[in-house]
Amino acid sequence: MSKILVLAEHKDGAVRKATLNTLEMARQLAAKTGASIEFAVLGHNIGGVAAQLSGYGAQAIHVADHADLAWPLAGPWAKVLADLAQAVDATVVAASATSLGKDILPRVAARLGAGMASDIVGIVDADGGVGYRRPMWAGALLADVVIDSDVHVLTARSSAFDAAAKTGGESSIGDFAADPDLATARVRFVSFDAVVSERPELTEADVVVAGGRGLKSAEGFASVMEPLADCLDAAIGSSRAAVDDGFCPNDCQIGQTGKVVAPNLYFAVAISGAIQHLAGMKNSKVIVAINTRDDEPIFKVADYGLVADAFKAVPELVEKIRAHKGS
Ligand SMILES: Cc1cc2nc3c(=O)[nH]c(=O)nc-3n(C[C@H](O)[C@H](O)[C@H](O)COP(=O)(O)OP(=O)(O)OC[C@H]3O[C@@H](n4cnc5c(N)ncnc54)[C@H](O)[C@@H]3O)c2cc1C
Repeated sequence: MSKILVLAEHKDGAVRKATLNTLEMARQLAAKTGASIEFAVLGHNIGGVAAQLSGYGAQAIHVADHADLAWPLAGPWAKVLADLAQAVDATVVAASATSLGKDILPRVAARLGAGMASDIVGIVDADGGVGYRRPMWAGALLADVVIDSDVHVLTARSSAFDAAAKTGGESSIGDFAADPDLATARVRFVSFDAVVSERPELTEADVVVAGGRGLKSAEGFASVMEPLADCLDAAIGSSRAAVDDGFCPNDCQIGQTGKVVAPNLYFAVAISGAIQHLAGMKNSKVIVAINTRDDEPIFKVADYGLVADAFKAVPELVEKIRAHKGS
């Protein structure tokens, strides 16, 4: 019987939401193929993570706990995940198309000699079997691809799948004797400088406010975007131009070469809506665009559009939201 092995992502002991989106993709694939689903949890001191995953319908949760896996270095993690996939006879290895998944899964595919479909947004019928739908050319077209190898390796775009809910029932949790083989890794962990922020994380936030080059400077960006984020309890994102011009750090970038988000509410402030930006946010539930020009492409995807100067309109909006919340 075929088996889907899902890599669980976790941070500070908590399962990341993206893993539940990938689980939903795995469920859709399982519904078409009759496969079972199992989880792989890699890291160090991660027993609590495995416990959180129980009840989601996975038959088994494999815990690879090793001091050399404490930091997700792609080489050792890929080796252990590929070893595990072989040990449990997985026919599909899947992870979220996050920075972690994008780093590790291609290496897993290489180790397993498997074909890979990355950033998939759907499961389709194809060639009498199953195919994987994925965006190409920054989402300008969707391709359905078929993998010919026995094992398939996938990364799933989180914004394309709802977070899977619990189904009840316990999963069996077992240890996997990991051999990360750190000695042969070509990359060494030196230090981790986390961005400390009180705000919600961009890819998990309910509300995202994103600013673009039209905000003119780092000071302009901060003066417009921070009060808006504060009053909406939102994460701050940006276009690539805003990053390139030094208005904000590059982990704010949303789009084809940045993060993909799908919050309930997305504000695009002084962002033109280039196709590469839309690739990272167009699945947001409600999109609000504020721009001085009414002919910008952002208005084609916006649910609400305001043709106005952001330096004037956003402070007025913030004032109104604050007044509304205070009432
Ligand atoms: C391979 C590749 C990958 C890329 N990846 C990404 C990516 O991941 N993410 C991304 O965002 N881009 C990406 N880009 C860049 C993308 O093509 C655009 O250049 C970029 O998105 C433009 O950013 P922007 O909308 O902030 O700037 P602009 O296109 O310069 O738009 C600025 C907007 O601000 C408006 N404006 C000006 N002043 C005001 C004001 N006072 N009030 C309100 N509105 C105002 C203007 O009307 C304009 O619409 C990529 C490009 C390439 C080639």
